[in-house]
Amino acid sequence: MTYQETIWDDSPSLKSYTLSNFRTLPQIQKLSEETQFEMEVVGNVLPFKANNYVVEQLIDWNNIPNDPIFVLTFPQKGMLKPEHYEKMATALKNNLDKKEITNIANEIRLQLNPHPAGQMELNVPTLKDGTKLYGMQHKYKETCLFFPSQSQTCHAYCSFCFRWPQFVGMDEMKFAMQEGEQLVQYVREHPEISDVLFTGGDPMIMKAKIFSKYVDALIDAKLPNLKTIRIGTKALAYWPYKFLTDSDSQEMLDVFKKIIDNGLHLAFMAHFNHLNELSTDAVKNAIKAVRNTGAQIRTQSPLLAHINDDAEMWAKMWTKQVQLGCIPYYMFVVRDTGAQHYFGIPLVKAYQIFKKAYSSVSGLARTVRGPSMSATPGKVHVIGTANLNDQKVIVLRFLQGRNPDWVQVPFFAKYDENAIWLDDLKPALTDKFFFDEEMKNFKTTHPVEDYPES
Ligand SMILES: *Cc1c(COP(=O)(O)O)cnc(C)c1O
Ligand code: SF4
Repeated sequence: MTYQETIWDDSPSLKSYTLSNFRTLPQIQKLSEETQFEMEVVGNVLPFKANNYVVEQLIDWNNIPNDPIFVLTFPQKGMLKPEHYEKMATALKNNLDKKEITNIANEIRLQLNPHPAGQMELNVPTLKDGTKLYGMQHKYKETCLFFPSQSQTCHAYCSFCFRWPQFVGMDEMKFAMQEGEQLVQYVREHPEISDVLFTGGDPMIMKAKIFSKYVDALIDAKLPNLKTIRIGTKALAYWPYKFLTDSDSQEMLDVFKKIIDNGLHLAFMAHFNHLNELSTDAVKNAIKAVRNTGAQIRTQSPLLAHINDDAEMWAKMWTKQVQLGCIPYYMFVVRDTGAQHYFGIPLVKAYQIFKKAYSSVSGLARTVRGPSMSATPGKVHVIGTANLNDQKVIVLRFLQGRNPDWVQVPFFAKYDENAIWLDDLKPALTDKFFFDEEMKNFKTTHPVEDYPES
């Protein structure tokens, strides 16, 4: 393949860059051989995929290695622990054959907690007739997640993504469903569901024709409980042309309009990690096009070391989102899988960054909630730190709970500057968290599922 720059005011087509061809990019060839080798080592273990929009419009190649979008989409040496790095580097230097490299990669991958919260087979929703729905998850009453089999990839991959096992073929699309009818039947059988969330991968990787089949099934069923269709997507950040010039872009916008014309709310849950993703004409025009359908865009992102651990950047990003007509929604804490040691931020520090950013923006941007952990018992919000009877504590609450009664109840953990996840926290003032006992039951009867950041 020869590299060619894209003409952006035409109708650009997506070109992907992965382990097999990233060295053809002139921007990469300018980096030292050592850096290119490091990327190859990491890229042999963790998935990576960038594209021509990310490379030509988002990354500032004068700002390598610190450019946030470069760190977001290209493999970084620090993403592997030194012993894992050395193992793969040695294998590549010794020119082992493909199969041996794959074996070593899989050995390392298994040590990276590929299934955080043990989500896989366990909590599969079932229809009343006993049919198991592998392409759905239903953890919180009001919202069920739907994973269409055609949306199990993305326009580019985020280096921190916890879906990495699926992208390297370890999970073989276990979350995936082709049957719109079964989705409809499930929502019909569960009158407590008001929201269906399309997720993946990225559902906006789907052609409009395929997406519309699922949407039509939901609309035609006239389900009285269904109020909102949500789409969790990073397409605005990674490929805004999906809503501008792609061959099916108008058709996709028409599907959005149809959802709204049928009396449903379309909640477009857009994943943006950095202000730079909001800087191009393409993304601004795409946001306009999506909003013109009547959809409401809400934004969310995890907080990530090396990418966005900067309060001022968050404040600017939320302010820009409001300016563009989007509603800031969630700031997440990055999960305990893959390269968490590289991207993870301790909870106390995450709270400090959040507080500083939140207190410097208009109330219109303070719709955002965070930092929030999507942990096994629920979405846990780090509210702050406090002194109780001379004991320093972290104050928390559930934004979503496996048991809805848990929501909003404040609870306390011992102050710990190093804790990065709920499991690291110890209860303060009591010997157990108030939900611990009940969680034991859930572990056996309702094991856990998982929620994508995008
Ligand atoms: C976050 C999440 C939802 C949606 O929660 P909202 O607070 O309503 O946005 C639904 N299901 C799962 C599993 C989630 O993690
Ligand atoms: S975080 Fe979302 S957009 Fe990024 S790779 Fe994962 S699923 Fe795709």
